[in-house]
Amino acid sequence: MAMQVQVACDSCGAELVPDAAYCERCGTRTHRAKRMVRLAIRVELLFFFLVCAVVVGFAWIYSVQK
Ligand SMILES: [Zn+2]
Repeated sequence: MAMQVQVACDSCGAELVPDAAYCERCGTRTHRAKRMVRLAIRVELLFFFLVCAVVVGFAWIYSVQK
């Protein structure tokens, strides 16, 4: 996966500052910010399923131990 640096806004074409998350002119998210959001959602989902698995696991253990 190549890490290409985005230099201009997709929406308005304005030049972006390095490592910018948003376009300074129109507020559109940069590719980098979109990637970060996707990653954050993935981590959150993973965490959610992990918690669910732990809860279900404990409920199962308690029901079996009775
Ligand atoms: Zn823009």
